[in-house]
Amino acid sequence: MFQFFSYYNSFFFFLFFLPSLFPARILPADLFPADLSPNATWNNFVNFIDAGKGANFSGMSELKKYFHRFGYLQVPDNLVDNFTDVFDDNLEYAVVNYQKNLGLTVTGKLDAGTVTQIISPRCGVSDATKTMDNIHVTKHYAYFYGQPRWGRSAQTTLTYAFSGNHMIDYLSSSDVQDAFRRSFSRWSSVIPVNFLESDSYSTADIKIGFHKGDHGDGEPFDGVLGVLAHAFSPENGRLHLDEAETWAVDFKLSKSKVAVDLESVATHEIGHILGLAHSSVKDAIMYPSLSPRTKKVDLKIDDVEGIQALYGSNPDFSYSSLMESDLSSGRVIGNSFKWLTYLVLIVGFLL
Ligand SMILES: [Zn+2]
Ligand SMILES: [Zn+2]
Repeated sequence: MFQFFSYYNSFFFFLFFLPSLFPARILPADLFPADLSPNATWNNFVNFIDAGKGANFSGMSELKKYFHRFGYLQVPDNLVDNFTDVFDDNLEYAVVNYQKNLGLTVTGKLDAGTVTQIISPRCGVSDATKTMDNIHVTKHYAYFYGQPRWGRSAQTTLTYAFSGNHMIDYLSSSDVQDAFRRSFSRWSSVIPVNFLESDSYSTADIKIGFHKGDHGDGEPFDGVLGVLAHAFSPENGRLHLDEAETWAVDFKLSKSKVAVDLESVATHEIGHILGLAHSSVKDAIMYPSLSPRTKKVDLKIDDVEGIQALYGSNPDFSYSSLMESDLSSGRVIGNSFKWLTYLVLIVGFLL
């Protein structure tokens, strides 16, 4: 009996000190150290963690502008400056839609996980699609309004060129060209579309360049991290990368904490050029965010299904190789899931 109480005494003793053993919660600020923060505007959003409806927080109007920009708060553009700092019903609706669309836990609150996702570096293209109103039933790829695509012939060849005036000097032209060549070939291996590099920027179908700040297309870039790149839907062809990023083709050579993998971003933006909007599938190339120092270049089944529904399949394409890569990433997910299960079991046992 005595031993029983003794066991319980030590158990409560342990529980008493449990909070000091673990931090109260992991804040995005811890996940994104100061020198890794996306940019001043977005980084301020960490102050809104756990803010609930009705709360009035200085700067909340900036978060509303963010949701408006990425397609979650539909108001006419001329009313954006009228946003208040109050967490109102419209903001809650935007948060719910954001969480659903990006595969987060739907709480309608600015929980730490949601804010971490909000401040993550991402593509500048809006997440709004024609399926936005019923995203709870469409957890996959999406298209732009009207499902635009290039050409209508069975076999299409698109030319691409780099802007001579808008390149970066710390990567060689051939490194940039190689990264894009590999990115284009991933898409051409699954659909009957060929890509051909051209020297003529003015006549090329796809025009690629590194641009800084306001560069004349109404979608200004914002400096280090934040928005990384953007591209336009068919048949516009413009693909712009934020010149302010530390672009990398090999993380062994680029030690910067804010280095962004050029090939990963190129592959994503080419998806837009071809007509895919953002996907809700986290592993998909067309998911809107990408962490620094992360390489994510393989098309997933979701990307392939989306693009093939638009262009048809490349006759040489087979699902078997793709399935292998999807399954191997599944095994990684399986392992982390196992660890999570162990953690939940341990915490469950303790409590
Ligand atoms: Zn995008
Ligand atoms: Zn642009």
